[in-house]
Amino acid sequence: MPTPHPSRRTFLGLAASTACAAAELCSHRILSAEEQSATKPSLLDCHLHINHFDRTIEDTIRHMDATGTDKAFVLPLETGEGGVLLRSETVLHAFHQHKDRIIPFCQTDIRSDDVIARLRAYHLLGCRGIGEQKEHLPLNDPRVERVIAFCNDVNWPITIHFQDGDGGYNQGLAEYLETYLKRYKKVRIIGHAQTWWANISADVPPADKTLYPQGPVKPGGLLDRLLSDYPNLYADMSAGSGFRALSRDKDFTAGFIQRHPKQMLFGSDCPCRDGQGENFKGMCYSRQLQSFLRELVTDPVTLQNIFHDNAMRALEGTDV
Ligand SMILES: [Zn+2]
Ligand SMILES: [Zn+2]
Repeated sequence: MPTPHPSRRTFLGLAASTACAAAELCSHRILSAEEQSATKPSLLDCHLHINHFDRTIEDTIRHMDATGTDKAFVLPLETGEGGVLLRSETVLHAFHQHKDRIIPFCQTDIRSDDVIARLRAYHLLGCRGIGEQKEHLPLNDPRVERVIAFCNDVNWPITIHFQDGDGGYNQGLAEYLETYLKRYKKVRIIGHAQTWWANISADVPPADKTLYPQGPVKPGGLLDRLLSDYPNLYADMSAGSGFRALSRDKDFTAGFIQRHPKQMLFGSDCPCRDGQGENFKGMCYSRQLQSFLRELVTDPVTLQNIFHDNAMRALEGTDV
């Protein structure tokens, strides 16, 4: 049997990693225009809201244009817990205006009795997953399990905000997440926020002490083990929580990404309007994380996975 030709992208990836190994200078190597266009990955932001700091639909698209974002999972928060109130209907409306840019998720109050009927309606209307799930309920509450089970039935992902402590959301990641991962094998659980990222380290301070631990990561954290054991678990790198955790110990992060290259999702959760942070203290989470990852991850195949393909895999539930 003839040896199959590697795809151009694979070939460039191999060539780039060989060059890296030889010289360790690849982040400074200037790519030719042809290499740049061949290696520039499509960008899918797995975590974006409308109404973030009152951002309109058009401002949200403007943010995507300014940050080179082709598509985004747009996540409603129907109860407004945490500060952003965004109806699933608004996301569907935006989707109909910008079908090639917006991948609509839905979210609705999981404490209401008609939650499953509402989710079924959103499913019929074209929503592709649940998120952002962010209500003041502990992770082991049966109402949280009910929507995870629904996602498992309809082959959907669910993005969960994990924040331990008083006034938090889905508290108890360390105690309860694995039970769901064992019980529900089809749902893709996308982990987000402070307590998710605190568990990158084996050493997690109590939530009432800090939600943003700093300094070197202690290897052997819960995220490493769960991501290794459960391929339907994904990590959403968005927001201050993602960036702080990934940048606190760059050497550890490089290894963490290498161990889970198909489960890391680029996301911003950025509230700014223009990609420059004019309404957000000059800060844009999307541009900040893009430049961090482009410097840290030199293999173009891994970058393509993080920037686009992993999100599609989480969305579809298949190895795309
Ligand atoms: Zn968010
Ligand atoms: Zn921004």
